[in-house]
Amino acid sequence: MTYIDRLSKQRFNNWTEGVKTVAISGHIRPDGDCVGSCLGLCTYLLDQDPALCVDVYLDPIPEEFRFLKHADRIRQENEENRIYDLCIILDCSDPDRMNRAQSVFAQAGRTLCIDHHITNEGFGDLSIVCPESSSTCELLYYLIKEHNIFGDGSISIDCAVALYLGIVHDTGVFRHTNTTMETMMAAGELIRCGINTEKIINDTFFRKTYIQNQLLGKALTESMLVLDGRMIFSVLYRKDFSLLKATQQDTDGIIDQLRVTEGIHAALFLYESGEGEFKVSLRSDEYVDVSVIAGEFGGGGHIRAAGCTMNGTVHDIVNNIASRVEMQLEKKEDCPGDSHEETERDELS
Ligand code: 5GP
Ligand code: MN
Repeated sequence: MTYIDRLSKQRFNNWTEGVKTVAISGHIRPDGDCVGSCLGLCTYLLDQDPALCVDVYLDPIPEEFRFLKHADRIRQENEENRIYDLCIILDCSDPDRMNRAQSVFAQAGRTLCIDHHITNEGFGDLSIVCPESSSTCELLYYLIKEHNIFGDGSISIDCAVALYLGIVHDTGVFRHTNTTMETMMAAGELIRCGINTEKIINDTFFRKTYIQNQLLGKALTESMLVLDGRMIFSVLYRKDFSLLKATQQDTDGIIDQLRVTEGIHAALFLYESGEGEFKVSLRSDEYVDVSVIAGEFGGGGHIRAAGCTMNGTVHDIVNNIASRVEMQLEKKEDCPGDSHEETERDELS
């Protein structure tokens, strides 16, 4: 049974019945899937009922996503102290990560969480968490289209652009192993709506500013191999950012370049986010489950892409993570063939 069939067992009919005001939010430091799902759903709800009041609460979004329809509705504060009939949290693996909407969520008439992070334990009145889905945008597509969760299932071109953008970003343009037949079918249907796929992929995923490329270059030049070449890590400090006039948003894509290094099973990227505080990004191949490692340090994510925030020296952080990666690699050597790839296939079949 596929996850789409399993979804039909959930009770989520009539979620917008009687609802006049909706708040939508995602996670801190919003990425393509978070922005795509929030604005895609906002567009869909307004297409269905233009009289609805829909507000989107997110941190300011990266420049390349600002062309999306209703991006101008994104706000950081609830200045009017509005109490919403419904609050929907998308792509957010735990309630601590939705800092912009904490109080909006707490006061809303009903709450709904839609997500695809394996570490999401569920929160809100109803949680729809599907780790088999490549992205929240893919999951949302099926909820809208196959399960008519918020309306009649008709997707406008503006909604399709947002959903396609999120799928593209979370799959690394359909390259990561989270790309399934369902992902490609959803993408195909969105293309049928008439979207410009080349523009979405090139302008929002591949294009880098000069500063972003300089930051990437610095991270690559200073990267180091550890665990006999089985893991790579790189660190950027606050002084690197000020020297290059870069911001945290300019780090997007650095971990993806580290992860393609030949011979490695895990990639680690850190940047200094505060005094003695580092934002940690982890990526892996089929031998290492980084969601478990990030979870141990208070973070979360997916089996092959996860993150957390850690305090301490770079030396200690890298050692702590490398020792856990090594433990997993040793376990794998003891039991060859026991890879997550098989676990995932089993779960899907
Ligand atoms: P990234 O490395 O691109 O920031 O994040 C990779 C994945 O891990 C994303 O799905 C992201 O939502 C998740 N993630 C990153 N940082 C954290 C964190 O601090 N806590 C949790 N729960 N998930 C995180
Ligand atoms: Mn996502």
